[in-house]
Amino acid sequence: MSQDTRFDILLQPIEIGPVTARNRFYQVPHCTGMGYRDPTALAHMRGVKAEGGWAVVCTEQVEFHWSADITPFIELRLWDDRDVPMLARMAEQIHAHGALAGLELVHNGLHGPNFQSREVPLAPTGFPVAGFGYEPLQARTMDKADIRNLRRWHRAAALRARRAGFDLIYVYGGHALNILHQFLSREFNHRSDEYGGSLENRVRLLEELLIDTREAVGDTCAVPCRLSMDELRGAAGLERAETEDMIGLVAEIPDLWDLCLAGWENDSLSSRFGEEGGQEPFIAGVKKLTTKPVVGVGRYTSPDRMAAVVRKGIVDLIGCARPSIADPFLPKKVEEGRIEDIRECIGCNICVSGDYTMSPIRCTQNPTMGEEWRKGWHPERIRPKETEKPVLIVGAGPAGLEAAQALGKRGYEVTLAEQRTELGGRVARECRLPGLAAWGRVRNWRAEQLHKLANVSVYLDSALDADTVLEFGCPRVVIATGARWRRDGVGRHWTAPMPIGDGAQVLTPDDIMEDRLPQGGRVIVWDDDHYYMGGVLAELLADKGYETTCVTAASEVSTWSRNTMEQHFIQTRLLEKGVRIRAFRLLNRISPGCVETSCVHTGRSEEVEADAVVLVTSRTPADRIAADLARRRDRWPDAGLESVDAVGDALAPATIAHAVYAGRRYAEELDGPAITGDAVPFKRELAELVD
Ligand code: ADP
Ligand code: SF4
Repeated sequence: MSQDTRFDILLQPIEIGPVTARNRFYQVPHCTGMGYRDPTALAHMRGVKAEGGWAVVCTEQVEFHWSADITPFIELRLWDDRDVPMLARMAEQIHAHGALAGLELVHNGLHGPNFQSREVPLAPTGFPVAGFGYEPLQARTMDKADIRNLRRWHRAAALRARRAGFDLIYVYGGHALNILHQFLSREFNHRSDEYGGSLENRVRLLEELLIDTREAVGDTCAVPCRLSMDELRGAAGLERAETEDMIGLVAEIPDLWDLCLAGWENDSLSSRFGEEGGQEPFIAGVKKLTTKPVVGVGRYTSPDRMAAVVRKGIVDLIGCARPSIADPFLPKKVEEGRIEDIRECIGCNICVSGDYTMSPIRCTQNPTMGEEWRKGWHPERIRPKETEKPVLIVGAGPAGLEAAQALGKRGYEVTLAEQRTELGGRVARECRLPGLAAWGRVRNWRAEQLHKLANVSVYLDSALDADTVLEFGCPRVVIATGARWRRDGVGRHWTAPMPIGDGAQVLTPDDIMEDRLPQGGRVIVWDDDHYYMGGVLAELLADKGYETTCVTAASEVSTWSRNTMEQHFIQTRLLEKGVRIRAFRLLNRISPGCVETSCVHTGRSEEVEADAVVLVTSRTPADRIAADLARRRDRWPDAGLESVDAVGDALAPATIAHAVYAGRRYAEELDGPAITGDAVPFKRELAELVD
């Protein structure tokens, strides 16, 4: 039981069909961008979550047949027996730490373009493939034999999943991303046979798969069912009332109901667009329909909120994907009453960008995510110091804070000097922008950790330069001084300063964040950065009453935020706030009172009146101290200085996740084997060559 009885309800075991979960912390299936390419890294990542106390740890989606491959995305597969060992490795890692292993079987149907298998996609009705890129192909309508095949393939995969050691084997119809959803949906199922039309008919395949799976593996494995309560598209999509009717038809067949929202962007809504527990209104009341346990998600990071949602009878288990990524040890910390140590997810969806860019998962808050096996990093442990040499860190942004807390935990004497009167660097400033308050957690968690480390001294209001660093006499110096936004327009489009006339009013994101606002009413935001900053500043300016226009060479604002599933929400919000979006346009020249833009395709230009321009282009590393120290190398021996390393934005500006990772990397590698760049510095698996 917990040190704190408030949370006892979260620590009680619960039966899920034939298996028992040790507590109420349930890591729902989530993508990782690792899948079949990085199976051992993936297995160890899931194993660390089991070690952190989760009762159930699930896979990402696992394709149960090759007629539905979601290439280029990298998920898992159980196409045949050869796929069993890689899944068995994951189950072993999860079991080694006493958790139950869950596996989510999927057939992508209309969502699988089958770029690898080159099979004709299958669907209840042969619509165009609805993947992620307007793929120019259509699925074919399944006949009865196809449906019989589908059932046989699902059953065979369930048996393989059990052989691989899994304890829960899903029937998955959630997120509007798979064939089961397409059968359930009025929109995608236009069949006139017993699998289409009425609700009963559309639910038929779901019922059959549930029964098939229970018959195949239900004596030893639980069979959860994952459905979306609502697609949030009104009557065009599935709505709560209809989903409840569906659940009512098969309420007692699965061993557990795992409920989400569709599409995925609504389910994993970023913190900019939704609060913790945002799905409660959609799940509340479902428990009246079934006696089986219910799990629901909602980016829960507060144990009080979690306990309340169980106590209120909305769910039986707390489903988490992102909170388990940001803190794989969340359950252990609740159990041990270490609530202040929980590394709370900030809801930035950088983890999702791993999947979208087909690269291994990363997390802004947890820099060890994805590195458990390939680099041997652990979210809670780090090897002790190997020397007594202290470290001076200049700059307390995400990079400096992470380096300081991780080095502090290794046992080094650390001094952290920050020129401002608050910790956090860019995070302290950016978390004041509209919708980004939760990002302050990057600072808050690290500040809390530093507070507990007697060997780390923090000095605010302490601007250092090369001379003061030399006077300080510390052998190791980390320059984590960040970066400043450029004022000359240099970035992706302009690699030399853009023409800016005398008297033109030009501002940078730093100006706006430091409350230097435009004079006059009409503002152009030139977004040559394409992630969140341009869009968020346009929102802020519109909120302050400026007539705001966003100019971008891309087809939409904040286009990279497609990878965090936020682009649609950003564009909608800006349009609703009256921001004008000028896509496919370049900014050629800024003059007092006007700018010239041109079409990226035709080159045709036009003049637009504007009182001020905000340039969101690129950033210049604040690497002055590092450069000055390099020039004074002759003074290093007398000062006892041995190494100077720039990390994070001071080396190369990037995302907050990159900065945290850079700080961690410095701390992990200090006094370790030299990394020369000649050898690959992480473990990887290579494809097995077949004779
Ligand atoms: P990163 O994302 O790499 O951590 P940030 O810009 O967030 O970078 O943080 C850099 C921090 O370094 C800021 O808080 C800034 O005030 C601080 N800083 C910059 N120059 C100095 C300096 N000369 N002395 C002390 N602190 C500095
Ligand atoms: Fe949360 Fe961001 Fe980490 Fe994802 S990347 S788990 S959203 S903090």
